[in-house]
Amino acid sequence: MTKSVNCGGVVIGGGAPISIQSMTNVDTRDTVSFVRQLNELKDAGCDIARVAIPDMQAADSFGLARKQVDLPLVADIHFDYRLALAAIDAGADKIRINPGNIGSIENVKKVIDKSKERNIPIRVGVNSGSLQKDIREKHGGVTAEALAESGAATLKIIEDLGYDQLVVSIKSSNVKMNYDAHMLLKGMSDHPIHIGITESGTPANGKLKSAVGIGSLLLAGIGDTMRVSLTDDPVNEVIWGKKILETVGLRDKPIEIVSCPTCGRTEIDLIALANEAEERLEKVGVIRHAKGKRPLKVAVMGCAVNGPGESREADYGIAGGKGEGLVFAHGEILDKVPEDKLLDRLLEIIEDD
Ligand code: SF4
Repeated sequence: MTKSVNCGGVVIGGGAPISIQSMTNVDTRDTVSFVRQLNELKDAGCDIARVAIPDMQAADSFGLARKQVDLPLVADIHFDYRLALAAIDAGADKIRINPGNIGSIENVKKVIDKSKERNIPIRVGVNSGSLQKDIREKHGGVTAEALAESGAATLKIIEDLGYDQLVVSIKSSNVKMNYDAHMLLKGMSDHPIHIGITESGTPANGKLKSAVGIGSLLLAGIGDTMRVSLTDDPVNEVIWGKKILETVGLRDKPIEIVSCPTCGRTEIDLIALANEAEERLEKVGVIRHAKGKRPLKVAVMGCAVNGPGESREADYGIAGGKGEGLVFAHGEILDKVPEDKLLDRLLEIIEDD
């Protein structure tokens, strides 16, 4: 198990639930838009938001927003240690730096000393574009070994300066290299690991790469906090992060829908029915979750003969037939209704649960 750190009340590592991060993409200096986006992320279920601090004006705006938003904030700093110091003074809950571009070791030490004073963790982030030159040359380019070694070496710089409240990230945009690098890093460090696929791309590709890249690491027991990086509205990063955690079984999904792939026996428009069921049950799930009700599994099957039998595991389900369909619970038939009433009847029964 990894060690743990505390980021503004959210524990990262040590077996704590995997937290979901995102990063604001509005101009940090525009405090109104910045605060609005932080609140949108919070409402979407973001646990920790990271913020770029490119200059002192952004650091000032960060301080103003810090007072208005109840969400742990990570200040993302490159090149200038003074921005890190200003962000810590402004109330950052964590700092993300790459010691390699912060300048002299004295300047890195100043950031560490201030983090120590405030007892906030530091995330050291290495990715394929920011590998130390000597390590890249030693490995003949960007490789999984180089990424892992670079992550471990970066951690050591901070540890040698006397600080161990650390989180590490070593992201690649190559899913296989990302996976291999983390498997190596796992044996080199017990600091919490922030996982993700860097520069994963546009929504369709980025979601796929992140689902495979982050999901495979989580299933291997690696990862303490995560970010889905998408070229998109950051709210979608949070939504997709939650879906990945639900899919690998690390968060309960209020209502899980299983549906059959359809075949030559299907006599109803199951594709439309399954899509509508997903949309309507998503809303019911949010309400059930808010009321603290148990998670449900709902089956949407195309065939009246095999449907109930194939989905005995489901709490509720529907199975289409010719012009009518069945509503069932744990494989037992509850009702037979016309096809166009099938979904309404299912929802009525679920709402009574
Ligand atoms: Fe075909 Fe029925 Fe199975 Fe759906 S549940 S794939 S319709 S046999």
